[in-house]
Amino acid sequence: MNLYNIKHPEQQVNFAQAVRQGLGKDQGLFFPEKLPHFDDIDSLLAMPLVERSQKILSALIGEELPVETLNAMVKNAFTFPAPVAKVEEDIYALELFHGPTLAFKDFGGRFMAQALAVVRGDGKITILTATSGDTGAAVAHAFYGLENIEVVILYPKGKISPLQEKLFCTLGGNIRTVAINGDFDACQALVKQAFDDEELRQAIGLNSANSINISRLLAQVCYYFEAVAQLPKEKRQQVVVSVPSGNFGNLTAGLIAKTLGLPIKRFIAATNANDTVPRYLNSGKWDPHATVATLSNAMDVSRPNNWPRVEELFKRNGWDLTELGSGALTDEETEKTLQAQYAKGYLCEPHGAIAYQLLKDQLQADETGIFLCTAHPAKFKESVERILNLELPLPEALDKHNKLPLLSDEMENDFETLRAYLLK
Ligand SMILES: *Cc1c(COP(=O)(O)O)cnc(C)c1O
Repeated sequence: MNLYNIKHPEQQVNFAQAVRQGLGKDQGLFFPEKLPHFDDIDSLLAMPLVERSQKILSALIGEELPVETLNAMVKNAFTFPAPVAKVEEDIYALELFHGPTLAFKDFGGRFMAQALAVVRGDGKITILTATSGDTGAAVAHAFYGLENIEVVILYPKGKISPLQEKLFCTLGGNIRTVAINGDFDACQALVKQAFDDEELRQAIGLNSANSINISRLLAQVCYYFEAVAQLPKEKRQQVVVSVPSGNFGNLTAGLIAKTLGLPIKRFIAATNANDTVPRYLNSGKWDPHATVATLSNAMDVSRPNNWPRVEELFKRNGWDLTELGSGALTDEETEKTLQAQYAKGYLCEPHGAIAYQLLKDQLQADETGIFLCTAHPAKFKESVERILNLELPLPEALDKHNKLPLLSDEMENDFETLRAYLLK
């Protein structure tokens, strides 16, 4: 597999290098030079999830990895299902929260851990990543206990749910977690600064595991096929997919799936009040506001770092950005939506609710809609219980960690402090 740096196309790497480096020169994102096209989508859709995903990832990654190696990676990573639930006539939920940390990031995080273990080479590796909640949990769990891999996770202090925090800040071992006095964008900026520091990068074998790592995106392509595969055959032709978006990795993966030939008519980029992209699509002006805290905190991102990949895909495919649907919901609208969904018999959480409502608003008569449910409702227990006036039992995975003490360090939003910490 050949990839190029979107900012500096002359910088080219293979899959192993892209996985190890994460980011290219000048923080440029790596992007596949060629994307395959599947002509016989029906037979692909007829396969079970793991087998189909092995086919898809093997076509994407190519001969660089032996087939048996890749097949084992997929099998070890995808150990849980991605069921589709019918919510109402022509509207389906793709539930991506049945993995160990109850969010869709388990797919990408677990595949990346497998990939890195295969391509790592010798020497020390430090995974440094910023999280607005779910990435941290998925990465921490996917890498926990792997030999010679140190993980450092930055998150905005007080801005993620207490349960989320418990899920990844109680592991210890090779997982260090740091509560930063700042918002998610500040955490992300610190990570970028660390990657720009060549000396630091070499000294600790720096690697990022956030959604800029190509291995995560490639893994996520697979569940879009799974979604369409579970629709009744007669509903597969006019599919619209609504994606609750923060850093826009999930949407990028969906667009790659479409490029491979999966019949998806169009996508809807759904955001909360951090609506840089919907405003950009309406006005043509890229104008990020300060990040605001919302109910759907995993989407509290005003400078989505995967956006250049979305634009690259549109450009390369000759698609027009006007074909990309979008919209944003306020917290108040999100609450109303959750209540309306619950009244219909579907228990959702704020991220999925936003995708659902925008899908419902924009779906046309002859279309079939799928919205992505990116987290288990119990991950947002406090808000879901308050909004729906009910009690949610904690799933076992959460309950276990909830009883353990937090092991996080605290830090000011200061690069020199972080640098010293990483070198320690
Ligand atoms: C990370 C996350 C998102 C946003 O996904 P992106 O790929 O960053 O756009 C949405 N919902 C939940 C629950 C998440 O954890």
